[in-house]
Formats: sequence, structure tokens, C-alpha cells
Amino acid sequence: MTSTIEQHDVLIIGQGAAAFAAALYAARYQMRTIVIGEMFGGETATGGLIENYPGYPEIDGYDLMLKFREQAEKYEVPIVDGKVESIDRTAHCFEARTDSGETYQGTTVILAVGRERRKLGLQHEDEWTGKGVSFCSTCDAPLHRGNVVAVVGGGDAAVKGAVLLSKYAERVYIVYRGVAFTRPEAANLRLLEQSGNVERLFNTNVIELKGNDGLSAIVLDQEVNGSTELAVNGIFIEIGADPRTELAHQLGILLNDRDEIIVDKHMGTNVHGVFAAGDVTDAGGDLKQTLTAAAQGALAATAAYADVSEHPEACAVHARGFSLV
Ligand SMILES: Cc1cc2nc3c(=O)[nH]c(=O)nc-3n(C[C@H](O)[C@H](O)[C@H](O)COP(=O)(O)OP(=O)(O)OC[C@H]3O[C@@H](n4cnc5c(N)ncnc54)[C@H](O)[C@@H]3O)c2cc1C
Repeated sequence: MTSTIEQHDVLIIGQGAAAFAAALYAARYQMRTIVIGEMFGGETATGGLIENYPGYPEIDGYDLMLKFREQAEKYEVPIVDGKVESIDRTAHCFEARTDSGETYQGTTVILAVGRERRKLGLQHEDEWTGKGVSFCSTCDAPLHRGNVVAVVGGGDAAVKGAVLLSKYAERVYIVYRGVAFTRPEAANLRLLEQSGNVERLFNTNVIELKGNDGLSAIVLDQEVNGSTELAVNGIFIEIGADPRTELAHQLGILLNDRDEIIVDKHMGTNVHGVFAAGDVTDAGGDLKQTLTAAAQGALAATAAYADVSEHPEACAVHARGFSLV
């Protein structure tokens, strides 16, 4: 096991849209910056076709993230593949340790670690993400014009997703294990009732995904129209996502009741010197997108720069305590 200690003005944790955008801005502020991230490109890279990132009418998410990374690399930002397993605040700075035993010190930290989508736990669920399996109706609904799709879930996200999909797809099934929807917004429920092409399958579970290098049918634990197999072009799994909060917990960062990191308008957390950006935060409400994550990354880097400018010495003591500005 190696043991090196590198000092930086900002440690950016993550390798998604928020992290790369933060890296670009931090590097342009001439901060000593490092990006440490587990999975290149985050959810954008695995989300398939992106049609709502301004400037690119259509781009594969992986290619978009390559462009993000290349732009940060143009400023010679080091990018380390690795998972930060622990982070703490010493007297003088933040210290992050990775799964390979490396240690990095920073005057400030930007947490851009995203969320973990809840999954059904079925075979092919990961492999066919972007090939019929989707976790984001806002993103992928327009790809299903004239198709038959299923939405799994019974909360507001599932109802909203079904309403959106009903505008594109020929037929939408909502598959939910409960007997009724769980607290959907009244307006969304009304829209669902007005749409003529959504069928509700309550008390029903999806137990298998079928297809050949992509989804073509789902198998249910109840019969629908005399069969447990339902031919669909897409399945939208809208059963929630959980912010990755391990590092936030270690730093004593305040979370809201959805476990999102609470940030102020500069993306500052309650812990001085720690900023957060992207899907892990409570910023932007329910609009968790590549565009919003990138914008928040830029804001976080700008705030970190202001902080470092006040504490030009590396790993300056953060003596001002905890506050939400
Ligand atoms: C299937 C799908 C399709 C989507 N389609 C679209 C779309 O069409 N348009 C759109 O705008 N948005 C889309 N989204 C949403 C978009 O992908 C997210 O909003 C965006 O990825 C959020 O970026 P982020 O940087 O906050 O988090 P993420 O992209 O989730 O990145 C988080 C990063 O942090 C890393 N990480 C996590 N924990 C650690 C750790 N301990 N140490 C180091 N690294 C860590 C991860 O490996 C990852 O690199 C889609 C999402 C999904 C799931």
C-alpha cells in the first residue's frame, strides 16, 4: 500500500458533470485542483442519449462527459480514478483517503458524489440501462414516441413520469406493488386521470426483464390480459434514488429529510470550507439534471475560490466555525 500526501486548494470528489464543471472553473481560477472520482462520467455517462443539454441537440452521455473531462484536462487538472473512503478535518485542512491508500489534503472540498438509484434487483437491469431500461423519465421520454412502456413505482415521480410518457408513448402501464399511489401531487394525479392511454397495474411486481441485448418484454407476478408477459419497448424504474451521504456524515454536514446535502445559494454547506454540487444536494428541487449539476459545480468552485483567497496558505485553519451563510 502506498502512502502519499498531496496538498491542494480544492479536493473535488466525483467524476460526473458537477465535478468536471467545478474542476474547469477551479483550474481557471488557478487553484491547485484535483478530481478524485470512482466512476468516470457518473450517471450522465451511462444514461444513454442526451437531448436536453444546450448546445448539443443529441449526444451520447458518455461522449458529453468525455468533452467535460477533456476541457478540464486542458487546464492540466489531475484526475484520479478512485473511491474516497474517508474524509476528515484535521487542525489545518481536510484530508481524504482513497480505497488505494492515497491521501490528499485540501483547503476546501467540493462533494459532487451524486445519488444511487434504487433498483429492482433484476437480471439485466444494469446491462440494459440505456437499452430500454431507464431511471429518468424526464430524460428519456421523448425517445419513446409511439412505443409501449411501463413505469414502475407508485410515488409522485412515477405518476409524473407516466404523465410525461403518455404524451409520447402509445400506451403506458404503471406497475406498482401497492394498492394505491403513495402521495402523488393532486395536479399530477389529475393529469394522469385525463390522459387516455395510461393503465394502472396495482398489487403487481415486475419479476423479470426479457430481451436480447436490450429490453423487449417484462414478466409480471399477475396476469394482464391473460398473460404474465407484457411486450414493452421501455421500462422506467421510478422508485427513488438515495444521495450518497457517507462522506457528508463523516464531516458532520447537515442533510434535509430526503438525505440531500443542504446548501446555500453559493453551494456552501454548514461546514466551513466544504461545498457540494449536483444531485447529492437539495439545490434545484427535483430537477436533477446534467445541466443543473454542471452549473452548481461552477458555483461551488467559485465559492471555494473565494474561501481559499481568504486563506491563501495551504490547508489554512478553518477557524470560523460552522454556519450557513
Ligand atoms: C438513466 C439516466 C438518464 C439520464 N438522462 C439525462 C438526460 O437525458 N439529461 C439530463 O440532463 N440528465 C439526465 N440524467 C440525470 C443526470 O445524469 C444527473 O443529473 C447527473 O449525472 C448528476 O451529476 P452529478 O455530477 O451530480 O452526479 P453523478 O453523475 O451521479 O456523478 C457522481 C460521481 O461521484 C462519484 N462518486 C460517488 N461516491 C464517490 C466517492 N466516495 N469517492 C469518489 N467518487 C465518488 C461517482 O462515481 C460519479 O463519478 C439521467 C440520469 C439517469 C440515471
